[in-house]
Amino acid sequence: MRPNRDRPMTRFLPVLALACAFVAGDASAWSAEGHRIVAHIADAGLSPAARAEVERLLAGEADPTLAGVATWADELRDTDPDGLGKRSAKWHYINFDGRCGFEPPRDCKGNNCIVTQTNLLYRILADPTRDPADRAMALKFVVHFVGDLHQPMHASPRDDKGGNDYQVNLGGEGSNLHRIWDGTIIKRRDLAAEEYADVLLETPLPHDPTLSSDRPVLDWALESCQLVEDGKVYPADGVHVIDEAFLEARLPVAEQRLREAGVRLAQLLNHALAPPMQAR
Ligand SMILES: [Zn+2]
Repeated sequence: MRPNRDRPMTRFLPVLALACAFVAGDASAWSAEGHRIVAHIADAGLSPAARAEVERLLAGEADPTLAGVATWADELRDTDPDGLGKRSAKWHYINFDGRCGFEPPRDCKGNNCIVTQTNLLYRILADPTRDPADRAMALKFVVHFVGDLHQPMHASPRDDKGGNDYQVNLGGEGSNLHRIWDGTIIKRRDLAAEEYADVLLETPLPHDPTLSSDRPVLDWALESCQLVEDGKVYPADGVHVIDEAFLEARLPVAEQRLREAGVRLAQLLNHALAPPMQAR
């Protein structure tokens, strides 16, 4: 399905004015599997025009699919640690610093946060006059960051480095809440990414008001923040020993976020990569 150019997604761009910060840590967000699940869901929702453009932009990639590039942005930490890996390290998250509201000078210093960067990269991707190499890079970032935006630990109001500093004990093993949300919860299903995506696609999303928002990317980040505020992410205050029941209780939230990320990513790409309007 391709959104009408005059409608919702057209207004992706204004959000940009905004910016963000976070106290970094291991900010990989969803595990590689989580990012690939999101990409597979998005792939299923691409319009023919967007699919053709994705294939054209990714033609030089070893695996020229959304799933094939979904973890590229995380891999930069190893493949280009002193260059783009370093420069983009803070683009994977936002720290809302105590409450779920966006104040760019406080939350996105130097435009180095996921909200502002996703919007800036969207602009590059959606501009057919830009260098295809720049658009391909923007596409790879956007595919990854839409996933990250939906991982609650990447847009949290708490001051614990996205849960990296929240130590937990699970069945006698030490971990932290970031890792738990990255992969431990969704590994319970023991499904390969493509199969997992198929399972999640069986439950359609209800009407999604963020798709008619003039700031959808920020909305998605604020939703993640609100999940933390609403007690759907962390254990009860002071609790650091978690069990299977904790994981089981969070699984529907994690799966809903993966589903939303995938469906929304498809909408965003369909809009960004729709053919330009014919001149009249
Ligand atoms: Zn990431």
